[in-house]
Amino acid sequence: MIIKVSLLCENNSLGVLEMKEHPERIGILGGGQLGLMLCKALQQLGVKVSVYDPTPDCPCASIADYFAEGSFSDHQAILGFASDIEILTFEFENISSETLIAIEKIKKIHPSPAVLYISQDRIREKGYLNSIDIPTAKWREINTLSDLTSGVDALGVPSILKTSSMGYDGRGQIRLSSSEPAYLKECLDRFEGRAAVLEQWVPFIQEFSLIGARDSRGNMSFWDPFVNHHENHILESTLYPGFIPPKSAELALSMGKKIMESMNVVGLLTIEFFLLPDGRVLVNELAPRPHNSGHITIEASETSQFYQLALILTGRPLGSVGVIKPGAMINLLGDLWLGSKGEPDWNTASGIPGVFLHLYGKKTPKNGRKMGHLTFLHQDPCEALVALRTLKQRLSN
Ligand code: AMP
Repeated sequence: MIIKVSLLCENNSLGVLEMKEHPERIGILGGGQLGLMLCKALQQLGVKVSVYDPTPDCPCASIADYFAEGSFSDHQAILGFASDIEILTFEFENISSETLIAIEKIKKIHPSPAVLYISQDRIREKGYLNSIDIPTAKWREINTLSDLTSGVDALGVPSILKTSSMGYDGRGQIRLSSSEPAYLKECLDRFEGRAAVLEQWVPFIQEFSLIGARDSRGNMSFWDPFVNHHENHILESTLYPGFIPPKSAELALSMGKKIMESMNVVGLLTIEFFLLPDGRVLVNELAPRPHNSGHITIEASETSQFYQLALILTGRPLGSVGVIKPGAMINLLGDLWLGSKGEPDWNTASGIPGVFLHLYGKKTPKNGRKMGHLTFLHQDPCEALVALRTLKQRLSN
């Protein structure tokens, strides 16, 4: 819709400026499941969505209004893609921030490339967080064997060696179990010269995430905490709302607000936390986009994380984020497809009151690959999770 704004011109006459109230076409870099669910939310607002992804049969390809196939390292192709849209966002973090900085000169990008630049590299991210007094696990930057030897001396074992960039879902992480020199050399060699971070092992009692939403006027809102369980460094399940001791939850929320404000995030920011036995909280990592732990908001919250981002991108007021009904979410990984029976029989999971099945339409199942998820709304999130684990077990039989 075009809105007309009156302008007082220099010669004191009245002029009229025609402005679009809301953008009509939004671009998403990345066509995976996060893009798919964001695409649907934007389309619910009547927006046309263009998606850019290297894989022609990615989850978004069949529902996007326009789909461009291209590599994330193809600077020119991404610039060309951006020329036809009004606002750009991303669901995938490993995109060159230089490319986005070039686009930012001519198009709005939310969150900004400056936010992506910090969050796509663990060294920059931890350095930034510590510079604004946000606590993280103790860490060291590792480029050489001597960095690693002195890092292990300082932080002890077990500790975790992680690639500084381009790692996700546990890829590029090694849990160090010994300080023996030959073992450390072998571990470092696996990073093939890429910069890494050594993190002290955190004896957390719980992992949780906060997802914050912030609009371009600086209004913010946070969903209740999501309590997360990981297996093999991959999110297995989420409880919502997750129980966090009130003082720790308050502390995390004040950190979340501080981070979002100081980074000037417009969009969503997911902040993953470790809860320590004494109630302190440490930030593990940031993701400036919708997050797997927030999938349950589709059914359990008044506004889902995807719809909230769609509201922000289109310049509308934030939606309320109250809990409609508690519950749990469990991921369905490719492993489930690779058993002797092939793709599970979804009749086992469908039609159960309160259970919602989401399949992302990925063509090739792989071990550890996120293919879908199940949500179960139930007054007791822990009971919901027990039921979901049983259901998932039945799907694999
Ligand atoms: P990340 O990719 O950094 O989110 O790590 C994936 C998962 O590995 C986390 O969610 C934790 O379960 C575990 N993890 C990562 N870093 C640490 C740490 N410093 N201490 C203990 N567990 C960790």
